[in-house]
Amino acid sequence: MLNKVIAEDNIQKAKKLVLNYDKIVIVTHLAPDGDGMGSSLGLYHFMMELGKEVQVIVPNDYPAFLHWMPGSKSVVNAEWHKRVSESAIANADLIFCLDFNTLKRIAQLEDPVRKSKAKKILIDHHLSPEQFANITISHPEISSTSELIFRFICRMGMYEYVNEPCAECIYTGMMTDTGAFTFNSNSSYIYYIISELLQKGIDKDFIYSKIYNQYAEGRVRMQGYVLYKKMKIFSEYKTSLIVLSEEEHLRFNPERGDTEGFVNIPLSIGNVVFSAFIREDKDVVRVSFRSKGNFPTNQFAAEVFGGGGHLNASGGEFYGKLEDAVKKFEEALPAYKHLLE
Ligand code: 5GP
Ligand code: MN
Repeated sequence: MLNKVIAEDNIQKAKKLVLNYDKIVIVTHLAPDGDGMGSSLGLYHFMMELGKEVQVIVPNDYPAFLHWMPGSKSVVNAEWHKRVSESAIANADLIFCLDFNTLKRIAQLEDPVRKSKAKKILIDHHLSPEQFANITISHPEISSTSELIFRFICRMGMYEYVNEPCAECIYTGMMTDTGAFTFNSNSSYIYYIISELLQKGIDKDFIYSKIYNQYAEGRVRMQGYVLYKKMKIFSEYKTSLIVLSEEEHLRFNPERGDTEGFVNIPLSIGNVVFSAFIREDKDVVRVSFRSKGNFPTNQFAAEVFGGGGHLNASGGEFYGKLEDAVKKFEEALPAYKHLLE
């Protein structure tokens, strides 16, 4: 049996809204990842099965390796379809906010969501949720928002409305937010849920392959390049750093999301507990952090780059020159030495 995580009164209040409202919008964070898309599209298929009018809206495009997901074609990208997305948000009865903790994370959709008269339900697993929603279902102890979606549906007593595409999307989010069940994945309930999803007909090996074995040639060559030429190890701090300029990135015929995963690789070195990846984009420098053990990358991200995330996976942005972001990173390291053991 699945244990109870979400508070009963939240389930009852949310169920009432789900039963009473028909026009539903689902939004997830900027630069959507596997869990953002998995939870959003999982909930989308469930709501469609219930006969609702549903629209998934993303602030910008998501990586090419997620475009195979069922329902992907119906997703509205607000960057390309500003009016359509804003009118859907304004006219919705109910808005689900998935996989983010503050409205800042949905960028240009923040204002429309804040102003919409729709009821709002936040379902997320990041620390310190902003109190903007009518119902806040926030569980940082759960490793993915997609798992929370499964729990949410089951607790409303609606497991029979989980169809195969819904199960596929939920599995995708659970898998990607745990590095294919290699971190944050010791809860036995994760495997109980996977067993239920398998019963719904998913092919988990197919999903793994769709996510991890579909890279373009340029991406794999770029991986070789960054590891061989660009990885710097700070032994004293058990830290590694990869810096990629926009010019270098462009050499490899890039696709959206194709540097994802690079930041995890240096953690396979025995003496590295903290891995950083700094990438220059057109008008922003993106920073990504990963750790193994107890090093709080989210604290580092927040204190040094004003970002955030989870203990072992976090990120942020830097507005300025690439070399200044790198300098900021390197100068910050000594203050964290005591945590890098
Ligand atoms: P990634 O390194 O994959 O871009 O991000 C890892 C995790 O860090 C994300 O799932 C998200 O929780 C968090 N994160 C990434 N960028 C930001 C940011 O700019 N601000 C905050 N608050 N969290 C971020
Ligand atoms: Mn997530």
